[in-house]
Amino acid sequence: MKLNGSFTDFELNESLLRALAEKKYQTPTPIQAQTIPRVMSGRDVIGIAQTGTGKTAAFALPILHRLAADPRPPTRRNCRVLVLSPTRELSGQILDNFRTYGRHLRISAALAIGGVAIGRQVRVLLSGVDVLVATPGRVLDLLRSNALRLGEVDCLVLDEADRMLDMGFIHDIRKIVAKLPADRQTLMFSATMPRAIADLAAQMLREPVKVAVAPVASTAERVRQRIIRVDRPAKPSVLIDVLRQEAIDRALIFTRTKHGADKVARVLNRAGIAAEAIHGNKSQSQRERVLATFRKGEVKTLVATDIAARGIDVDGISHVVNFDVPNLPETYVHRIGRTARAGADGVAISLCDGDEVAFVRDIEKLIRLSIPVSDRRTHRSRVDERPAKVANGRAAPKRSAKHPRRRDGVSRKQRRHHDSPENARLASVAFLNRHAPSRRDVAAIAPRSAGQSEGS
Ligand code: ADP
Ligand code: MG
Repeated sequence: MKLNGSFTDFELNESLLRALAEKKYQTPTPIQAQTIPRVMSGRDVIGIAQTGTGKTAAFALPILHRLAADPRPPTRRNCRVLVLSPTRELSGQILDNFRTYGRHLRISAALAIGGVAIGRQVRVLLSGVDVLVATPGRVLDLLRSNALRLGEVDCLVLDEADRMLDMGFIHDIRKIVAKLPADRQTLMFSATMPRAIADLAAQMLREPVKVAVAPVASTAERVRQRIIRVDRPAKPSVLIDVLRQEAIDRALIFTRTKHGADKVARVLNRAGIAAEAIHGNKSQSQRERVLATFRKGEVKTLVATDIAARGIDVDGISHVVNFDVPNLPETYVHRIGRTARAGADGVAISLCDGDEVAFVRDIEKLIRLSIPVSDRRTHRSRVDERPAKVANGRAAPKRSAKHPRRRDGVSRKQRRHHDSPENARLASVAFLNRHAPSRRDVAAIAPRSAGQSEGS
């Protein structure tokens, strides 16, 4: 038997199979292989899988299949399927996917997101739609103004559930779910499975099938990673060198702060490398414009913060560059997962200064790989510097009087973040890792974990 079989094995609607062939999808990804038949049979599903594993098609295909099998004119101010996601960008991408996969079907889909005028959304909803993709806040706005009712929803999808909780949408979600018919199908997807997600699933899903694939490390294995040791002030010039030397299709550069993203974009533009920045301070229309130019390849270099980059699905990102090394190793894995999507391979380069060496060690521990290091420091022979090779990382992180570190290499400022939901997610990733019998054989563990929790 082939590992994930073929899309034709699912007996999906012919029009969907045609759209998939046109999109050149050949085999389902592991999360798709496990989720599609369950959703087609009407079960509730909780799907745990990292970014880039194909979760969107995992729910969109069987949902479209079921809609096509039971065609009905939409009820006014209603939808049959409600998909909630944390960000406007992500919602837009999910809608695009529904439209792409459903292009040979007569199924209507609409977007309801904040940051844009509500009037058009109200008008579209007047006659009702089959699929509504939305952010939670805007759904509540539409409910309040009576532009939307939820009495006809027979399928609810919560995408990126962990991120929605992090962003404080829990109360909004509860309010929305309270308005849905109890007799519905509910699908929940999340990169991680912290306690809060398990609780939410227990409250909102009915006898869900749990499918979990791709522990965090396997994403990392497909990406060619490199670390460049640099002096902090030299980071911009090293970045420029890297971008000039590498064969780049599209590069996504991560900075820790919004201000940093703007600064890096400016430096690059001054050096003649066209770059745009995207972060939470930009307006919705700015963000959309920037994303469109990046997607079309008009600008090959995008500088982003983690929040802004989350969920952005742009094919063909050949390079991820960490201008700042993230202090949480899971963030690193999320970042490099932006390249190497759906099996392609990519390059990830991290510029690491003396203060970030400890972060690299945490990352290597999580991904269980040692990342090759090259050295671009000017004073590398200085006695107080750590050796360039950090892979074995025995030495304690360098201390400086200005930035004292605690013994565990976490400064006081970072420590404050340790009570955050991000931290809870970390713990759960570690959990997934521990229980994976083999990093190399992700698919092999998946059916078992699904079977175990079936009907529980
Ligand atoms: P996730 O939601 O898990 O982060 P997405 O649904 O955004 O992942 O999919 C990631 C990328 O993989 C998208 O570019 C999508 O078009 C592509 N993709 C999804 N499924 C397949 C497949 N079966 N074959 C090839 N590419 C796929
Ligand atoms: Mg997704």
